[in-house]
Amino acid sequence: MTAQAQNKITDAEWEVMRVVWSNKQVTSREIISVLEDKMNWKQATIKTLIGRLVDKGLLKTEPQGNKFLYTAKVSEEESVRDVTENMLAHVCSRKVGSTIAELIDQALLSHADVKLLEEALAKKKVTAVDEVKCNCTPGQCNCKHKHQQHHKKHYRVEE
Ligand SMILES: [Zn+2]
Repeated sequence: MTAQAQNKITDAEWEVMRVVWSNKQVTSREIISVLEDKMNWKQATIKTLIGRLVDKGLLKTEPQGNKFLYTAKVSEEESVRDVTENMLAHVCSRKVGSTIAELIDQALLSHADVKLLEEALAKKKVTAVDEVKCNCTPGQCNCKHKHQQHHKKHYRVEE
């Protein structure tokens, strides 16, 4: 787990991080000019968010003249990866495949995106297993009893 895992980015903070990521180095005024209208936030709100991101160690700040320049201390790729890993950690390992399929189903994709996914799947085909094992704590998912059914074929466990 990275330090970032403890410093999760909130939805509001994502808005600020995206401005910083796409501009490499920005002043608070630049962040405010992008988000003021889009989010309908007050300047003070945006400054609070920036301050929180600095406290969390996600933004670096350095003075330049009478203003401060902000740079991201974590990359966009890394942060997005954290979110998807975190999301998949919330489902049973047996449901990861169908969760990803659902994501694909919901997404608007270009031909290039589809090609990228096809290539990723072709690679996965080589290392695919016959059955993904459930990693859940009993009581947190219902596939344990499917396992029982599987192992003790003669018993019918029904609830
Ligand atoms: Zn499970």
